[in-house]
Amino acid sequence: MRVTIDSASCSGHARCAAAAPRLFRLDDDGYALPLDEDVPEDLEQDARDGEAACPERAVTVR
Ligand code: SF4
Repeated sequence: MRVTIDSASCSGHARCAAAAPRLFRLDDDGYALPLDEDVPEDLEQDARDGEAACPERAVTVR
């Protein structure tokens, strides 16, 4: 599983980090820090939770 964040679509709602703080990090303004990496098995549900929480569809899990 791989998770990416489209920084151009991120509007700084911080919901991804609220839903899955072990995986998603925010900058000082509340925008998600860039992420494009393989997800460890124990964080796969966190990735899905972050994707579901993002109202801008900026988080993609594949
Ligand atoms: S929930 Fe979506 S819009 Fe909000 S910080 Fe996370 S990636 Fe950005």
